[in-house]
Amino acid sequence: MSHLIDGKAIAAAVTERTAKSAALLRERGIVPTLAVVVATDDEGAAWYVRSIERAAARAAADCQVHKLRLQASGPEIAAKLEELSGDADVHGIVCQTPLPEGVALADVGANINVDKDVDGANPGSLGRLAAGLPGAFAPATAAAVMEILGQEHVPLRGQRAVVIGRSNVVGKPVALLLLAEHATVTICHSRTRDLPAVAREADVLVAAIGRPKMITADYLAPGAVVIDVGINPTDDGGMVGDVDTEAAAGIAAAITPVPGGVGPVTTAVLMDHTVHAARCLVAPPSP
Ligand code: NAP
Repeated sequence: MSHLIDGKAIAAAVTERTAKSAALLRERGIVPTLAVVVATDDEGAAWYVRSIERAAARAAADCQVHKLRLQASGPEIAAKLEELSGDADVHGIVCQTPLPEGVALADVGANINVDKDVDGANPGSLGRLAAGLPGAFAPATAAAVMEILGQEHVPLRGQRAVVIGRSNVVGKPVALLLLAEHATVTICHSRTRDLPAVAREADVLVAAIGRPKMITADYLAPGAVVIDVGINPTDDGGMVGDVDTEAAAGIAAAITPVPGGVGPVTTAVLMDHTVHAARCLVAPPSP
């Protein structure tokens, strides 16, 4: 049987170290604070924002939710992000998606100060990641994938990694982070030819597609480590990932479940980024 990776346990380990750093800041009168800007009434987004608030409480950090009107324009959202970027009491900023029709995250995200861009929404953060420059945060989900691989001691150097999905928030940054760990990385997408054959080359397979249970046994090499980023709502109010976990069991060496895999690690990492940002903003690292 495949090892089922326990995302909640990994998240708890992240939160333990975050809470310790947060406590040290609080002793100095600094309350690590994340601001989340919301301009949607999407149910999934509301659920995610509540889970961020819970993660903040566990990490002894504060979370402010700034609700904008539903049809907020790009300039309105940008102005809010700019205002929060200049607020000394705010250390991390998230611009929650989905955004109103016609507003692109990459556009408005450019107004988040990179030092506070704890979810990597500013294209400048992705650029720094691509250039291998320090001082930028990867999107929390991408960083969560790496946290899981790290805590599970999955070897990456020289290994074949296949990432299915090329979004700015998951696929691309995960690929860059895997590359930085010396994996040989292939990025796949909806136009990739013979996707199962490419996926079967993977020692580490990351699925960030948004297609329920698309990854079946045919996509897996025996012994692969499978990280399922997908969140797909089901008719009964639950959720499934992009991987058919039952089909993968017995082929994959290890797999993350949905729910209980990448999700809890993502919010824990987001708070870790926020506390790290607070530490750097208060006492910037020496050049
Ligand atoms: P996205 O922007 O919609 O990107 C999906 C990617 O999958 C695209 O690159 C798309 O290819 C590719 N794709 C779609 N259908 C495909 C197919 N049949 N074969 C191969 N590739 C295909 O989604 P996202 O924001 O990256 O999110 C991906 C999934 O992760 C979603 O289920 C989302 O809910 C979930 N997610 C989870 C977390 C978490 O914390 N666990 C956080 C963020 C997102 P093209 O580029 O060619 O269209």
